[in-house]
Amino acid sequence: MTDTHDTVGKDFIRQIIIADNASGKHDGNVVTRFPPEPNGYLHIGHVMSICLNFGIAREFNGRCYLRFDDTNPVKEDQDFVDSIMADVRWLGFDWEDRLTHASDYFDGIYDCAIKLIEDGKAYVDSLSAEQIREYRGTLTEPGKNSPHRERSIDMNLDLFRRMRAGEFADGVHVLRAKIDMAAANMNLRDPALYRIRKVNHQRTGDAWGIYPMYDFAHTVSDALEGITHSLCTLEFEDHRPLYEWILDNLDLPNRPRQIEFSRLNVAYGITSKRKLAALIEDGLVSGWDDPRMPTVAGMRRRGYTSQSIRNFVCNAGVTKKDKLIEMGALENCVREDLNENAPRVMAVLNPLKVVFLNYPEGGTELLAAANHPNRPELGSRDIPFGREIFIEHDDFMADPPRKFFRLRPEGEVRLRYGYIIKCVDVISDEAGNITEVHCTYDPDTKSGRPGAERKVKGTIHWVSASESVAVKVRLFDRMFTVANPDANRDGKTVTDFINPNSLDVVNEARVEPALVGMEPGAHVQFERLGYFVIDAKDSKPGHPVFNRVVTLRDSWAKIEKAQLAEI
Ligand code: ATP
Ligand code: MG
Repeated sequence: MTDTHDTVGKDFIRQIIIADNASGKHDGNVVTRFPPEPNGYLHIGHVMSICLNFGIAREFNGRCYLRFDDTNPVKEDQDFVDSIMADVRWLGFDWEDRLTHASDYFDGIYDCAIKLIEDGKAYVDSLSAEQIREYRGTLTEPGKNSPHRERSIDMNLDLFRRMRAGEFADGVHVLRAKIDMAAANMNLRDPALYRIRKVNHQRTGDAWGIYPMYDFAHTVSDALEGITHSLCTLEFEDHRPLYEWILDNLDLPNRPRQIEFSRLNVAYGITSKRKLAALIEDGLVSGWDDPRMPTVAGMRRRGYTSQSIRNFVCNAGVTKKDKLIEMGALENCVREDLNENAPRVMAVLNPLKVVFLNYPEGGTELLAAANHPNRPELGSRDIPFGREIFIEHDDFMADPPRKFFRLRPEGEVRLRYGYIIKCVDVISDEAGNITEVHCTYDPDTKSGRPGAERKVKGTIHWVSASESVAVKVRLFDRMFTVANPDANRDGKTVTDFINPNSLDVVNEARVEPALVGMEPGAHVQFERLGYFVIDAKDSKPGHPVFNRVVTLRDSWAKIEKAQLAEI
């Protein structure tokens, strides 16, 4: 049990909440929200925000809202909304009855705008967008007041109501907060609160011809929803003074506090919906759920478990410092989870036939194979063995180097769960390619049987030639050739760093027959080859497609470390 009152080892946000609860602020309530904009699928960065907001609510006996940020009227894309809900659930969180939309608050936000106008704290400006930019000044020069800044309250109210009624075209007027055109923080130079946009909104239809700007909508929604701690990423730090100005100047039922934390970035992945969308548009991946994408849907299809993604995000921690975390750290979390939970099976990706000259023609037998080396409770299965098997092409070499402990002419090797075999002949085609290896097997060396202890150096995996099934297997590599494809260098964009070899398809791998009956989404370890998952989308009954989730060991760690050191 963790004690939620103990600050030791807690991140700075949880420490703030503990202090707030101790001082009685918000009467001990903790209410958070995860506010995605439904304009793409969720990615690994969003997972951090989800784990933080929903996690904090859970730990402090609070509540967390899933609030769709639909302030931007766009063509309805129900697919994004559905995928976001499915992903949050899959990650193990539940908003219960707290599913909201920024548009649910449009009436309340409008009332707040009217109140600000009535109090002389907001005005309707009629400068063009370009003029507004000019008047805004720069980081080094103050802005100047719009000629419309001193309009009377009545005139502002009249114009704003007519904006709402649809009397003006887009861009003719905007509603602005009256703060300070000379403020050092540009966000306080009379920011826009409402703009005219005569477009249909996916939820409110044509009820509105004006829409609140993000900062205004977000602040008021937080306050109306009863949010106590409004957690967002660091780029909103400069917006906090505006957040507070809005709260200071309105009499809202609740005063949330905005707290910023640093974004999570993962090396060899990108976390920008716009850039991920570009990969899809350019046909570089098959969609948002391509198993190479750093989206939740992509990672799920790739076979990453929800537990391992949560562990990764939790280990990454919550800080104010920008960070680029190695993909290897995520993969290690996946390995750890699957090592514990994935049953072991055998598969051969690049089959080479082996014939046992001393095994009876047409004979077969079953060999017992443990499903997990450390978990006997997961039981065992019987795998078919016969006169002909397949082994991995790489596990045989006609002319091997000295330390090659797999199969070689005249050499011996143990078959996993089976016998010690000896190579007696090598068959090649006219081009010199090895097509078949002839062996003898030693019946006295059956795995697990008394007297079978005779030792040889190597053990290799295999499947029965007649009983195994041909399946498609996909092997993935990093999607990008550099650790940080997002960093703009020499005018290059992310697409210039695409790894052309990020997908390798094996059409005729051979697997144990029992695998054909497994459910899509099921995980296994192919012994010596890595962890695999049955693809939930491309598999058909009787024809599973396997994705390699991750290799058994991290072959990338060194390369990645070297590349990150260069950044
Ligand atoms: P993108 O740049 O991909 O469009 P966004 O921040 O605009 O991301 P939203 O849908 O607005 O996407 O994000 C919802 C929430 O997730 C926000 O509170 C945002 O701060 C948070 N979030 C987005 N990306 C990250 C990230 N890389 N790390 C942590 N939190 C993130
Ligand atoms: Mg956003």
